[in-house]
Amino acid sequence: MRCLLVQPDYYTRYPPLGLLKLSSYYKSQAHATELVRGCVVPSWKPDRIHVTSLFSWAWRPVWRAVRYFKALYPDAELWLGGIYASLLPDHARLSGADNVWVGLFPEAEDLMPDYDLVPEWDGSIIFASRGCIRQCGFCAVPKLEGKPNRLKHGVRDLIYPKHTKVIFFDNNILGNVNWRAVFDELIELGLKVDFNQGLDARLMTDEVAEKISKIKMPVVRLAYDSIGIGPYVEKAIKHLTDYGMRKRDIIIYTLYNYADDPEDFFHRVRDILNWGATSYPMRYEPLCSLEKSRYVAPKWDCQRLERVMDARRVIGYAGSFPPYKALVEKLNRANSFDEAFNLRPKMKKVSKLQRGSLMEMARQDRVVGSRKKYYFPAGRRYLDWREVLRPQALIAK
Ligand code: SF4
Repeated sequence: MRCLLVQPDYYTRYPPLGLLKLSSYYKSQAHATELVRGCVVPSWKPDRIHVTSLFSWAWRPVWRAVRYFKALYPDAELWLGGIYASLLPDHARLSGADNVWVGLFPEAEDLMPDYDLVPEWDGSIIFASRGCIRQCGFCAVPKLEGKPNRLKHGVRDLIYPKHTKVIFFDNNILGNVNWRAVFDELIELGLKVDFNQGLDARLMTDEVAEKISKIKMPVVRLAYDSIGIGPYVEKAIKHLTDYGMRKRDIIIYTLYNYADDPEDFFHRVRDILNWGATSYPMRYEPLCSLEKSRYVAPKWDCQRLERVMDARRVIGYAGSFPPYKALVEKLNRANSFDEAFNLRPKMKKVSKLQRGSLMEMARQDRVVGSRKKYYFPAGRRYLDWREVLRPQALIAK
């Protein structure tokens, strides 16, 4: 059988892990696979087509892909899976797919992804666990994956031999009772590691920080989602810096537009910058939202949400707020969200001088912090797998 694996044309920096695992599964059954991105003509006529999906708001490119391939190959059985399909299966069925797959495909879950389909991609993407010990209301993980499960004792077998880095997609690896064994293995392997989804600040201890200091980890990501966990975040930063981590290389996801209000967000960003770490604002989107950036939480309004976006662009760097001296001072001088993030009138009034010095600091920081280029979440400077996908797969034949 010939299986065509399709990643629709939405933005993502990562290759489609689920499809790569499916490819391994099919190849183990002596079937042939081909991976394409977007609506292109593959090398051969498939018998079966798998289309994946990501966030629910990115459903349009998914529908386009389903309709395109269904029209091109009406006899092939078309399956639609992935996050959007799992969260909104009824909506996904309207796309025209023959079948909608909800959740993971257990037979493929523990297989080494077929990285031969993306030969220039250099990082092994791994789940050492699924699920989470917590139940944060804004998060899809408890809904999709439940309590911790599929806990691994080691990940060595899931690292592709040609890869130079390991990217963990675990949502809460420190909630995996086997985390010590996994960290020890990473120390031994000496590869560059990114815990992409962040580490739970409430579980950061001296022992964790000590092990992290022995792993090649250019940045550590934590989250400061509500004001109540501030003391844990501060303590986690202290543990990490006690073991040599540079403060500004600690990136703190800062949720907003959920149950918080602008003042709460302002205080959290200010806390983070005063602790010397970098704040990375994350705008809340309802789990099953079909439109991105439309949701406005009860305590927010459109103007203030826009101010956050503007501030990230104007005084931030790659969408984050690093602890630039001028930025810390600006936030410390402000008495409210509006004073801190109301940029436009101040920028006009203030002056090229002040703006110039902020920009200069940003420039200097960029030079100093240039090693972050592979890890900053919002930067689009990264190597993108679309640029490295085997070119012939993209050429219409
Ligand atoms: S700790 Fe993280 S992964 Fe777990 S439920 Fe909360 S946000 Fe989701």
